[in-house]
Amino acid sequence: MRIDVITLFPGMFEGPLTESILQRARDADLLDLHFHDLREFGLGEYRQVDDKPYGGGVGMVMRADVVVSAIESVMKEGQSGSFLARSLACLKRATGKRGSDKSSPYRIYLSARGEVLTQPKVEKIASEHDWLILLCGHYEGVDQRVMEGGWIDEEISIGEYVLTGGELPAMVLIDAVARHIPGVLGKDESAAEESFSPSIGRKKEYPHYTRPEESRGLKVPNVLVSGHHAEIEKWRRKQLY
Ligand code: SAM
Repeated sequence: MRIDVITLFPGMFEGPLTESILQRARDADLLDLHFHDLREFGLGEYRQVDDKPYGGGVGMVMRADVVVSAIESVMKEGQSGSFLARSLACLKRATGKRGSDKSSPYRIYLSARGEVLTQPKVEKIASEHDWLILLCGHYEGVDQRVMEGGWIDEEISIGEYVLTGGELPAMVLIDAVARHIPGVLGKDESAAEESFSPSIGRKKEYPHYTRPEESRGLKVPNVLVSGHHAEIEKWRRKQLY
């Protein structure tokens, strides 16, 4: 899957997306991340990206003309021949599924006003799209005409609270979606029996324990050390809620 992120702060993505499972996925060409500095599309000597809100009020609004230029540029770059060839290689590498139209990205604006992200939504995005463009807002947000003009397909919120920018929400979305790209999770990791997965009825998962059997006076539930698999399974099912 290719994901392009349009942001004023590309440096924020260093670290969270360059470690562990996500870095392995990138190394294996299963996850192809590109970061685009919105400032490069800014206007004039100072590369202005925002302006005062019509109607007055505090804060600044990210300009539609600047944001649209960035989205169009990223789409153009992504639709170039080299990307299509690369996508095809990624597709071959991924196990099974997918054959959708690689030339059309799904464009998401991370926004507190958007639909709240849930596990079914993550699964839908991962299964239906091979190319995402994520727009990170800042200040008061983005001029509404970016949405009205059809340059954004969906607004997604990561929860009902307000953050300073869309960068952390974009990272959350990338991480959640990447887990569902075939081959990203190793054989010891699986998205199948996790909290909110269909296999456990979208409930929260049972608790986990590991060695030692007793820690600070707290013991592992007896059933888990009984070796009785049917009973363990029964106990685990009872813990779901
Ligand atoms: N004025 C906006 C409002 O009241 O909904 C909040 C703007 S916020 C300070 C700046 C940016 O952070 C937003 O444009 C959005 O990209 C991002 N953001 C803030 N909270 C978010 C959330 N819960 N989910 C997704 N993005 C969020």
